[in-house]
Amino acid sequence: MALDRSISEVVDLISCAKRIVALSGAGISTASGIPDFRSPESGLWNKVSPYLVASIQGFRLRPKAFYNWLRPLAVKIREAQPNAAHMALARLEEMGLLRVVITQNVDGLHQMAGSQRVLELHGNSRRVTCVKCGMELSSKPFIERFIEDGKVPRCPGCKGVMKPNVVLFGELLPVRTLLEAEAEAEACDLMLVVGSSLLIAPASELPSSTQRSGAKLVIINLQPTPVDTYASVVIREDVVKALPRIVRAVAKRLSRSSGA
Ligand code: ZN
Repeated sequence: MALDRSISEVVDLISCAKRIVALSGAGISTASGIPDFRSPESGLWNKVSPYLVASIQGFRLRPKAFYNWLRPLAVKIREAQPNAAHMALARLEEMGLLRVVITQNVDGLHQMAGSQRVLELHGNSRRVTCVKCGMELSSKPFIERFIEDGKVPRCPGCKGVMKPNVVLFGELLPVRTLLEAEAEAEACDLMLVVGSSLLIAPASELPSSTQRSGAKLVIINLQPTPVDTYASVVIREDVVKALPRIVRAVAKRLSRSSGA
């Protein structure tokens, strides 16, 4: 019952808002089989230290170790399909109610679900860039070959090592994307945080700037977040269960009001 009430509160907020943005994290993609690669619970760090392997310094020194670590994750990303929560956000955008999805994820599942405007704070796994000459290409053929033969992908031009366009530890975030995300967070009047525990900057700072500007905040996440106390509604539930229900209810209300 408490969940029903929270959901209808969120539906009210969405119906009243003029400028809505969503902020998504690893929690939205776990149901698609992608582990949170930054989390100790992902099982990806049982044998290796993230700061040695998935840092930019580690990558430069030992690209082979990085790619060995990446291999199971690359297989999961290749096979992953968007789930009901990704679809719900795409539908909200299609209804003209959602301006943008700001995401910490690199899996591209929002775009696969049909979201048009996605700001990827941690880069994406669709492209690779040569660390030597800067040539940027689609990652697909490189990753396919690499999953087959396990060899470090090399630049077709200069034989330099190809690096996925994913932000590694110790690496700067894409500046333009970050600035755009900050501007969206400040200008919105409602932010939906979906599947993020808001522990990693800068995503963790975006809801605070939203809240400072007087906008409303909704959190849908299984774990508590540092900004729960500022939120208008907190739903401690799997985003794959809660978000589609919310968007269905919003669509129903819209069709009712347009038919009236
Ligand atoms: Zn090159």
